[in-house]
Amino acid sequence: MEAEEKKDIKKDIKSLTLEELKEEMIGLSEKSFRAVQLYEWMHKKLVRSYDEMQNIPAALKEKCRERFNYTALRLIEVQESKIDGTKKYLFALADGNMVESVLMHYKHGSSVCISSQAGCRMGCRFCASTLDGLKRNLLPSEMLDQIYAITRESGERVSNVVVMGTGEPLDNYGNLLRFITLLTDENGLHISQRNLTVSTCGIVPRMRELAREKLQITLALSLHAATDEKRRELMPIANTYSLAELMEACTYYFAQTGRRITFEYSLVRDVNDTKQDAKQLTELIKGQNCHVNLIPVNPIKERDYVQSERQSVEAFRDRLVKSGITATIRREMGRDIDGACGQLRRRFLENQP
Ligand code: SAH
Repeated sequence: MEAEEKKDIKKDIKSLTLEELKEEMIGLSEKSFRAVQLYEWMHKKLVRSYDEMQNIPAALKEKCRERFNYTALRLIEVQESKIDGTKKYLFALADGNMVESVLMHYKHGSSVCISSQAGCRMGCRFCASTLDGLKRNLLPSEMLDQIYAITRESGERVSNVVVMGTGEPLDNYGNLLRFITLLTDENGLHISQRNLTVSTCGIVPRMRELAREKLQITLALSLHAATDEKRRELMPIANTYSLAELMEACTYYFAQTGRRITFEYSLVRDVNDTKQDAKQLTELIKGQNCHVNLIPVNPIKERDYVQSERQSVEAFRDRLVKSGITATIRREMGRDIDGACGQLRRRFLENQP
């Protein structure tokens, strides 16, 4: 029992900053350059365990094993799209929870979409990730591990990261910030803040807190409806924060960071894709420095939402553009694999005995 308790309070070595790791080395009566070496093995060479670290003395590896937890994902399944080469990965965490991540290829480079939680408690009606609720938050290292594992498996350099997989990143706020610090660190993968997008369903106080961090990341807000009434039908979070409060938070985010907001709007046939919806959306966001990303909803079998027809999607975009709002239709990546958020993980969990 005691051993188990001790194990639980072990620090997570891959979630420590280089400075913190230096402190730890000093605490272990080691030289601080050992921290630099360890950090490089973990965050640049992306090794999966101490065993692969060649210039670290065995005695120090042993001390580290005793003192720290070292996270590693187990790859369960990879699906590759025959249409566009998009790859979807299902990983098991150390405790058996599952997360999924996606690798997409664009002209400007490779982009990885990662999960921030195992499951989700936000309850959006059209989303598969939330059907079984939240299992737990991911550690900063477990968010990094998804990118590291995909980099190793694919042999590709990842240039963009989007936190748009399973989970609500602002519901795991402290770990998200630490993840951003580590991901953008010049001693690690050194991904630029501008190449990182964080997507939220709209937890207003956290959006404001994030604004005050003055990061250069892109904040994407999942809007999906232009009236409070309609948004409440699709997203329970809309019962807590009104659209007026959300819009104020977006204005504040831009004022603090100078970064244009992305509004995500998933089009559901006859629910939020009409001419009137487009008009209301225009009214709602016309004062914002923003970009609208239109996503034909990906139907999940547990709900009867139907994708808007291509014509309505294009008409919706044209209406926004005519009103002076920049809007694009999100290219659907990997249509032939379990494309929608949380579907691969869900199919796997359902097939468990
Ligand atoms: N919790 C965060 C990030 C994860 S969801 C958020 O809400 O933004 C990433 C995006 O995918 C969100 O815009 C979400 O609303 C959208 N999404 C979820 N399920 C979808 C589906 N079946 N079809 C289309 N978009 C979906």
